[in-house]
Amino acid sequence: MDEKIALFTIFGGTGDLAKRKLYPSLFRLYQKGLLKEHFAVIGTARREWTDDYYREIVQDTIKDLNGTQEEITAFASHFYYQAHNVNDSENYDTLKALSDELNNRYQLEGNHIYYLAMAPQFFGTIVRHLKSQNILTEEGFDRLIIEKPFGADYNSANELNEEIRAVFPEKDIFRIDHYLGKEMIQNISAIRFANNIFESQWNNRYIDNVQITFSECLGVEDRGGYYDHSGALKDMVQNHILQVVALLAMEPPVAFSEAEIRSEKVKALKAIRLYSEEEALQNFVRGQYGAGKIEDNQYIDYRAEPHVHENSQIETFVAGKFLIDNFRWSGVPFYIRTGKRMTEKGTRINIVFKQVPVNVFRRDCDENIEKTDLPPNVLTIYIQPTEGFSLTLNGKEIGQGFTTSPAKLDFRHSAETTANSPEAYEKLLLDGLNGDGTNFSHWDEVAQSWRIIDIIRQAWDKTPVAFPNYAAGTMGPEAAFDLLAQDGFHWEWQP
Ligand code: NAD
Repeated sequence: MDEKIALFTIFGGTGDLAKRKLYPSLFRLYQKGLLKEHFAVIGTARREWTDDYYREIVQDTIKDLNGTQEEITAFASHFYYQAHNVNDSENYDTLKALSDELNNRYQLEGNHIYYLAMAPQFFGTIVRHLKSQNILTEEGFDRLIIEKPFGADYNSANELNEEIRAVFPEKDIFRIDHYLGKEMIQNISAIRFANNIFESQWNNRYIDNVQITFSECLGVEDRGGYYDHSGALKDMVQNHILQVVALLAMEPPVAFSEAEIRSEKVKALKAIRLYSEEEALQNFVRGQYGAGKIEDNQYIDYRAEPHVHENSQIETFVAGKFLIDNFRWSGVPFYIRTGKRMTEKGTRINIVFKQVPVNVFRRDCDENIEKTDLPPNVLTIYIQPTEGFSLTLNGKEIGQGFTTSPAKLDFRHSAETTANSPEAYEKLLLDGLNGDGTNFSHWDEVAQSWRIIDIIRQAWDKTPVAFPNYAAGTMGPEAAFDLLAQDGFHWEWQP
């Protein structure tokens, strides 16, 4: 592959995201020869660091990546640090001078990526200054990569979007949803559109329901200050989960291109039923973890975590049912659930197929034999921690008589393949360098997601609940199980 040429300016260069994800991902691109001589990185943040100190930090973040010392030192020599307060216009003049100098030194052809690895309240100020201080040029490209959360509701997201769009056109805005960089999320399209046996069945005639689970064992960790304002609905459902629903529900795109996929995803999101507040309360349940055990470890209540309000009404768990009002999906519930401090960590999708029209094996004429319904065929897509898919089919048990039992066709990528596959951030940074926005969220998707989520949030804010309502180490409150039981279903994944 060709060498990519660009100057990265990372706002929030001393932060956790930059250290854990961005520097290691840039190094992997360097090891693969996708970044060589013609790249440079400016890290900016409030702290007063020297270039040398910054390079030491960068080297420390990549020390476990099997690079030779020579490689690591050469890579780090492309990094420059500038202390910068994002509210101070003068700092942008210094930044421009450094950008111009690096552009000449490394022959970067005016290609520029601005990565905002900072709290979103700064996004508007930064982009305004990039324009007013003439940092953006006509030469090469100017692309903006921004982190979640994109707004806290539709109105704030719209305001933020208008501020950004006043400076950058939509094609140059890359809103990160790092789940879209994950192998198996991208594999949803391969499974659907490269296998006729599935795509021909991918509708309400053959599918009973769809179940999406994003569960974590971790609690809120040190993110209490942020999380206690956000909650699971905004932190997980508005972005990652609705993106997965859109990928599962969309019509086949005419071509596998950014514009075609986007247009189908937006249509799918628009077909999701907008509930009334009353319907939202019926179809969505929330939970907050209380003390409990996972394996041998005892955990405390969410409300006792650092920076969390002692009477917090914020949910650490959500389960819900989306309905999609179009020809393909009418009548098929898409159940979702996500939470912290659950029994097991795992992201997976279960596609539950309908029963055969008549169960010819059913022996209800013989009163001594229990009536048996066949278990459904289930296609499971494993996203993490293991990656792969499985399909359960009913077969005959070996032996006298005729008893059916489910058999599982299971494919998991080996730990070695998974370990060698590029990390989500590495793929997304490369997409950004290539100007390919397929695996990022377009404004139309973000806007529709907020419209869906806002109603649920508003309904919940008006109706306080008694928390905590699930113990750490369980799969959420009883209501999450009742949600499916009332439709005659159950969660296929019950760790
Ligand atoms: P962080 O608090 O570790 O880092 C924030 C950075 O911003 C620091 O470098 C800090 O010096 C800088 N900063 C703050 N105020 C500034 C100012 N006025 N002027 C200049 N610099 C200033 O945060 P983080 O965890 O790295 O997260 C950054 C962004 O990425 C956030 O939007 C967050 O929601 C998002 N995000 C982070 C993760 C993660 O794994 N850390 C995951 C998903 C999304």
